[in-house]
Amino acid sequence: MVKNNIQQFCFPASVPEALRLMAKLKAKAVVVAGGTRHTRSIAPQVETVVDISDLPLKFIKADRSGLRIGALCTISDLEKSPLLAGWAGGVIAQTAGLSSNALARGMGTVGGNVCRAHPYNHMPPVFLALDAAAVYSEGGREKSVPFARLLEPGFMRELGHRCLLTELRVPAATKSWSGATARFALTPSQWESTAHCVAALDLQGGTVRRAALAAAALLPRAARLPKAEAALTGKPVSEETAWAASKAAVFELEELTGRAAAKAYACEVAGVLLRRTILEACHG
Ligand SMILES: Cc1cc2nc3c(=O)[nH]c(=O)nc-3n(C[C@H](O)[C@H](O)[C@H](O)COP(=O)(O)OP(=O)(O)OC[C@H]3O[C@@H](n4cnc5c(N)ncnc54)[C@H](O)[C@@H]3O)c2cc1C
Repeated sequence: MVKNNIQQFCFPASVPEALRLMAKLKAKAVVVAGGTRHTRSIAPQVETVVDISDLPLKFIKADRSGLRIGALCTISDLEKSPLLAGWAGGVIAQTAGLSSNALARGMGTVGGNVCRAHPYNHMPPVFLALDAAAVYSEGGREKSVPFARLLEPGFMRELGHRCLLTELRVPAATKSWSGATARFALTPSQWESTAHCVAALDLQGGTVRRAALAAAALLPRAARLPKAEAALTGKPVSEETAWAASKAAVFELEELTGRAAAKAYACEVAGVLLRRTILEACHG
């Protein structure tokens, strides 16, 4: 049986109020957004649940700098957003649609998804591929870091303790990119994938001007694949270039997984997924 010592729930109405509570209560408090990851994992020393669901962080909008997605948007909000459907070939909405079940989709937030980025979580690779920035609030100041930094274990430990993620920003330049995502799992209702890949391409007249490829699930955290990206950049879009990039990706993933025999199949699967997503991003 899971035992906890929760004595109160707090519902801060602003980010500064939430941060003040977190600073005062420290390890005796836990931050909850959608709560889908917390059902069985609240530590015994926690007495206060800081429920951030009332914070004004539920928005999807665009300005001159690009796309702005509030941390409290649910995965379902992302999947159904008309703005996201028209951004980078709809790859963010498409990725949200990979979620395994109604709980993760309807209650789970994008902030919770990326702040405790389990290797199988679906949203990190798409924000990594689109060169997103993570905006967070700490000690009364708003700060921004490249999305990759958010996934570093040292940084992740601070999230929900000393700082709160407030939004994800995606550069305006990526709006016209093409994108596609695919994962392979035993069943669609399974959260855990063998491999999950995202391809985001800046295409000009049938040539890849910039390629952004990311893989997840088979690695401890989502990662970009720069060698595979180089195999595509400046090349015309074709079956051959997609094959060359997928071969480079498999090699790169084998390196990243330390050539572990247990990961060999997942690396091959990722190669196939990447080739398919590259071709889908190019041809729809
Ligand atoms: C049965 C089941 C199936 C699942 N299937 C999937 C799936 O298919 N795909 C997938 O990607 N995930 C899946 N998940 C994982 C989870 O549901 C999602 O990752 C979800 O998006 C987490 O969001 P949340 O709002 O519920 O997080 P919460 O549980 O509220 O929080 C998770 C962690 O993040 C911290 N946190 C939350 N928001 C912030 C913030 N703004 N700033 C700082 N820290 C914050 C919290 O303190 C906590 O430590 C599944 C989970 C379960 C239980």
